[in-house]
Amino acid sequence: MVQRLIGAIEAGGTKFVLAVAREDGTILQEARIATRTPDQCFPEVAQFFRAAAAAHAPLASFGVASFGPIDINPASSTYGTFTTTPKPGWAGARFHDVLGEFGVPIAVDTDVNGAALGEWLKGAGQGCTTLAYTTVGTGIGTGVVHKGKPLMGFSHYESGHIQPPRDAAVDPFAGSCPFHGDCLEGLAAGPAIEARWGQSLSELGSPPEKVELIAGYIAHLAASLVLLHMPDRLIFGGGVMKAPGLLQAVRRQTERKLAGYVRAPQLDPGLEQYIVAPGLGDHAGITGAIELGRIAADQ
Ligand code: ZN
Repeated sequence: MVQRLIGAIEAGGTKFVLAVAREDGTILQEARIATRTPDQCFPEVAQFFRAAAAAHAPLASFGVASFGPIDINPASSTYGTFTTTPKPGWAGARFHDVLGEFGVPIAVDTDVNGAALGEWLKGAGQGCTTLAYTTVGTGIGTGVVHKGKPLMGFSHYESGHIQPPRDAAVDPFAGSCPFHGDCLEGLAAGPAIEARWGQSLSELGSPPEKVELIAGYIAHLAASLVLLHMPDRLIFGGGVMKAPGLLQAVRRQTERKLAGYVRAPQLDPGLEQYIVAPGLGDHAGITGAIELGRIAADQ
C-alpha cells in the first residue's frame, strides 16, 4: 500500500518542530525553527512544507499540536485560531492562514493533547482504552485520550487551574496564577516553585518535605483524574516531574487520597504501574501531531 504523506507541526513556546511523515509515523523530513511572531514563523513553515511536498509527494493532510489557548473546536468558525495567548503577535493568528494553500484537511489540537496521543500510540500509554497524560512544567495541563482520540468539551481541558486544598500554615505561598492565585498551576508549576523557593526542586536537591508538598498538589489532580475519567493509566511528564523522588511521592499520596474507594486491576498496590513517566520524551508531541493529521486525512 502506498502510504499518504502527513504534514505535522508541534508548536511550542520556544520552538516549532515541523515534520513530513508517512501515515505509520515514519518521519521523512524534519526541521526546527525558533518561535517568534507569526509574521516571522509562518513563511518559514510554508517554505518547509512546499519544499518537502516537492521532494516527496503532495501532502494528504496536516496535524498541529500547539501551545494555546487556541480554538480546537472543528465546528467553530475560528478553528485553529489563537485566542487569549499573552505571547506577542499570536492572539488572532491562525494555522489555516499558513497551511490553507495546500488545500487539504487541517487538524489542530493542543500540545498536551498531541503529546497524550503520541504516548498512547507509541509511548507509555500503549494498550490503554483511556489514558490521561499530564505535563507539569512551565504550565500544567492534561490530555485525556479515549480510544485513540483526545477528548474535549466546548474547549480543551484546563486541569492546571483546579484548586487543591492549601494549608497556609504549611505553605504560606499565595500562588502565582494571575487568575486564581493558588490553583494547581499557581502552586506546583515550575515558575511557582521558583517564585516560592528561588530555585527548582532539582536545584534545591529535592528536599523531602518540599517534594511531598508539591506532590500533594499534583496528587490532588491525579486522584481527580481517576474519579472523573477512570483512565487505564496516568502519565506525568514535564520538567518539574524530573525532580528526584517526585513521581514516587505522587504515587504514594494519590493512593492515600483514593483511600481504597476505587478498586480495579489497573490500580496496582503502590501505583507503580498506574502512575508512570512518559515513554517518548521530547518526541511525544510530534508523534501525536502526525497522528492528528492521519486521523484528519481519513475524514
Ligand atoms: Zn489558575
